[in-house]
Amino acid sequence: MTEPFRLMNDLYILDSWMKKNSGLVAGFTTRNGGKSSEPFRSMNLAFHVNDNSDDVCENRRILAKKIGFPLQQWVSAEQTHGKNIRRITQNDRGKGALRYEDSIKDTDGFYTEEKGVLLTMCYADCVPIYFLAPKQQRIGIVHSGWKGTVQKIAGEMAAKWLSDGIDPTELFAAIGPSICQNCYQVDDRVIQQVDAVLSPNDDIPYVETEKGCYQLDLKALNRTILENAGLPKENILVTSLCTSCHHDFYSHRRDNGKTGRMLGFIGWNKEVSHLESSR
Ligand SMILES: [Zn+2]
Repeated sequence: MTEPFRLMNDLYILDSWMKKNSGLVAGFTTRNGGKSSEPFRSMNLAFHVNDNSDDVCENRRILAKKIGFPLQQWVSAEQTHGKNIRRITQNDRGKGALRYEDSIKDTDGFYTEEKGVLLTMCYADCVPIYFLAPKQQRIGIVHSGWKGTVQKIAGEMAAKWLSDGIDPTELFAAIGPSICQNCYQVDDRVIQQVDAVLSPNDDIPYVETEKGCYQLDLKALNRTILENAGLPKENILVTSLCTSCHHDFYSHRRDNGKTGRMLGFIGWNKEVSHLESSR
């Protein structure tokens, strides 16, 4: 599979979708090009990690300018490794953009059909999963670490869209930069919960390296969850980028928890005037 993300100006854009969908802006940041000092050097985009919040705001402004989405249009979440998903509208714009306190509470998934709304989630090893239904102009993003993955948040999002009448052949997903199998060791406690979500015919997404110690492929497991939810294999893109192997990213594991966060984002940047005036 060709790599769906392309590095441009210190960030990875979801090139394969942006080329085909006019007005779509989607991507994933790196740690480069911002103002924060160690251990957050330099493009930390999260308020909740004890970085200087003025620096985080400045970093967010830098990104806003690069991608053509002013901060008043951003929506951010208080992420809790749960499976709550929220539909976002124009009324939510600006929530969590400049302050953690007014971000959308207890949410790890966003979707919208509206223009001029940027859905954002923070990551450092957890899996960003982007969703797109071009016909309905619906877009979404989830945050899926091991806890979100075993709660099948990606499957929840897909099920929701399918129950709204979207045809599975017109539903696309892209799995973004996150920790790779070689870098991600887990114990029996995690593997028991992974086994609980697997069906008998699913590929096993982990290997046991020594007694009670496993390497887990979270991207592969999320891919399986999406396929089991009904997405055709060919509609799912998976990046080869690992946040821990690759030193242009923050990695919660590699950096022992003291680190910043990248931002995954997706939005339609074109205001459509007849839709605006009919609202
Ligand atoms: Zn790796």
